[in-house]
Amino acid sequence: MGDCFFCKMAKGEIPTNTVYEDGDVRVILDINPVNPGHCLVIPKTHAANIYEIKPDVLSKAMAVAQETALKVKKATGCDGINILQNNEEAAGQTVFHFHIHVMPRYKGDKAFNYKTITMTDDEFKEIKNKIKMSGVYEI
Ligand code: 5GP
Ligand code: ZN
Repeated sequence: MGDCFFCKMAKGEIPTNTVYEDGDVRVILDINPVNPGHCLVIPKTHAANIYEIKPDVLSKAMAVAQETALKVKKATGCDGINILQNNEEAAGQTVFHFHIHVMPRYKGDKAFNYKTITMTDDEFKEIKNKIKMSGVYEI
């Protein structure tokens, strides 16, 4: 992935506001934060999304997201934190190199929310069975 911007940022080839780095990941401040301290955990190896990322890289990124959440909480005194990870355009992904958002939140900040739908018992049953019967590697 020679021209992937996030690969270049993760590897330090493009300057970033880095708050943590090790051999596997870099954690940077998002350039368009929902609140001050909004971080992105970016693995150094390229994967476009959750479908493609290797489980060991995902585990490491998630562990670092947890550590980052604790640090951001301490540093900002925020009321809460969202961990967000978007996959594909329909879900809001704009950068196609896997990353985890760590977003500090404050009571009433209205940074974002999602709407819910209502479903019948039959609809729940149908989707439950579909998911249970789906093969993991059939994407
Ligand atoms: P996505 O929508 O793909 O989940 O998130 C992409 C995130 O990357 C957005 O929150 C966006 O603000 C951030 N972003 C895009 N370009 C840059 C950049 O050049 N530097 C930094 N620090 N963040 C970026
Ligand atoms: Zn990349």
